[in-house]
Amino acid sequence: MSVTENIKQKYPLLVALVFFIYLSATAFVLIFSANIGSVMASKKVIISSLPNVTNLDIQSDFVDVEMKNDRLNSGFLILVNNNYPCSFEGDNLVEIYGRGNGKFKVADLDVKLNETVAQKAENMLSALCDVSENSNVMIHSAYRSKELQEKLYQADKEEKGEDYIGAEYVLLPGYSEHQTGYAFDLSIMDDEDLSVLGEGEEFRWLKNNCGKYGFILRYPQDKVAVTGIGYETWHYRYVGLPHSEYIMQNGFCLEEYIEMLKTHTIKNPLYTTDYTATSWMIYYVPSQLGESTMVQVPRDSEYQIYGNNCDGFIIAVKLQ
Ligand SMILES: [Zn+2]
Repeated sequence: MSVTENIKQKYPLLVALVFFIYLSATAFVLIFSANIGSVMASKKVIISSLPNVTNLDIQSDFVDVEMKNDRLNSGFLILVNNNYPCSFEGDNLVEIYGRGNGKFKVADLDVKLNETVAQKAENMLSALCDVSENSNVMIHSAYRSKELQEKLYQADKEEKGEDYIGAEYVLLPGYSEHQTGYAFDLSIMDDEDLSVLGEGEEFRWLKNNCGKYGFILRYPQDKVAVTGIGYETWHYRYVGLPHSEYIMQNGFCLEEYIEMLKTHTIKNPLYTTDYTATSWMIYYVPSQLGESTMVQVPRDSEYQIYGNNCDGFIIAVKLQ
């Protein structure tokens, strides 16, 4: 009889106890190490979701491109307000009547938007209709020519009388965002009854979600002093991702965003991550005197380059 068999026979309880302790210890180590593993894994996810900024070298990873200075006045980030007129009559306009499969309405055949903006608006308003189950939301005004804006302005002036000092909602011809084709106004068309989109359920959804579709609430309630325009719950402007989300999440108006970006040159860029977990690097390049400006862009990464319609270009680089 071996020593082990001897112990087994003499002390069966002791053997069972030792075996039990061994099993418990093994289980404890397994559970504990699994937890450590998941903590480490989640930390890894956080780390890898940060933009890989340290590896970007301005000297070797960026190249200079020449931008004609007339491009300062074009693109989805142009600021158009009382101080900065729109220099063109609509950009790549398309008719949008009938779009959206009846999920939302479009006033008539004259309603036009920029082609990209039209697609994004269709996506956003279709989603809004699905959520709110209201198919009475209507795009009632989008692109407006300078000529039409002149008529609206004169009509507003006549209506308000002789002591007209300026428009609260109707901008001077040439200074309206509607001239770009990047903005539109929404109404509710209920039993032939047309009213502007107020602060209802649809508005709340738009305010929370428009940024994801590239749009911003252009004239917020608390920014009247900055925009110079009254609070408009109905007016949406396309600026594109990631700018739209950044503006909406930080409670900026476009004027403030354009101004803030001027502190972010390529040596001190703004980093942001959009709702699709795509990280972006955004920076400003002031325009140079003469016909063109040298702008630094990444050699290999995808990027957008837009004029701000004031004094420089804004570059957004996709990091992942
Ligand atoms: Zn408007």
